[in-house]
Amino acid sequence: MLKSEEIKKKVVPNAAEVVEIIEETKDTKTYKIFIKGKVSDEFRPGRFLMVYLKGSGEIPISLSDLAQDKDNGVLAILTVRGVGVVSQYMLSKVREGDKIGVRGPFGNGWPIENARGKDILIAGGGIGFAPLRPILNYIRKNRKDFGKVYLVYGARSPWDMLYKYELESYKELPNSEIHFTIDRPAEGWKGEVGLVPDILGRIKLSTDAWSFICGPEIMMKIASKRLYEFGMDPKRIFVSLERRMRCGIGICGTCQFGHYYVCKDGPVFSYKDVYRYMEVEGI
Ligand SMILES: Cc1cc2nc3c(=O)[nH]c(=O)nc-3n(C[C@H](O)[C@H](O)[C@H](O)COP(=O)(O)OP(=O)(O)OC[C@H]3O[C@@H](n4cnc5c(N)ncnc54)[C@H](O)[C@@H]3O)c2cc1C
Repeated sequence: MLKSEEIKKKVVPNAAEVVEIIEETKDTKTYKIFIKGKVSDEFRPGRFLMVYLKGSGEIPISLSDLAQDKDNGVLAILTVRGVGVVSQYMLSKVREGDKIGVRGPFGNGWPIENARGKDILIAGGGIGFAPLRPILNYIRKNRKDFGKVYLVYGARSPWDMLYKYELESYKELPNSEIHFTIDRPAEGWKGEVGLVPDILGRIKLSTDAWSFICGPEIMMKIASKRLYEFGMDPKRIFVSLERRMRCGIGICGTCQFGHYYVCKDGPVFSYKDVYRYMEVEGI
């Protein structure tokens, strides 16, 4: 149970300065923000910040890269797709040099440390690739600690691909198999065509790989099931779930999913823990 002082610290946003904005696609931008008084240890891959925009609202946004320690604070990276009121406000109104509010980081994060020595599969669809990117960059920094790396990243079209400026560099990762795919053929596209679960069905994975999946829920459901049926241990298949959130700290109940709160118990869950809820529409 959280004490009232602890709760106060977690519910009052800190000011963060927007240091740089990168235009990724027509509806998605990446923000580098400086948060004073924080250290990078807290900013583990898979965790998220509650981003508060005065006059608009507050939304959960995942860390989309490893955070960097700076003098007296941390540089954190967020990638936002404009889908509704707050996210579109962020895209259209927030400029470099502006201050925004942030709380967190919250959530459990990907259990990447536990996967040391193992083969790793990273499967991302659309904006779901954002929370997976820190895993990939963590492995790139600690290459010797992990086995073979499989990456399958899918977007609707070539123009919807995030991080175009670094995608090619993933292919230089030793002992890796990198797949970029789009939903439908497009002029000039030289990568693969097909949905992420279909690509997973085509590649030769080792059954003791640890899998980290994020994307539209239907994609996570089909991909996890496919990997499970292929023989992977459901305790080693992880998905990051998205639900509407308010408090971010397991008090309000807005993000309830089965008997879990996505903000506090997740957002990362093993397939073993959530497969029965993922089968039910509308939870
Ligand atoms: C842990 C977590 C991490 C996230 N990380 C990212 C990220 O890195 N980048 C990013 O762009 N987005 C991320 N999201 C999603 C993001 O929080 C939502 O897109 C945002 O809250 C939408 O708010 P809005 O005010 O812009 O849209 P609204 O105006 O509230 O809604 C627009 C439309 O989206 C639907 N919608 C809104 N929120 C959700 C939701 N959580 N689940 C399902 N449908 C929803 C609404 O029903 C409506 O149809 C994350 C969500 C969670 C829970």
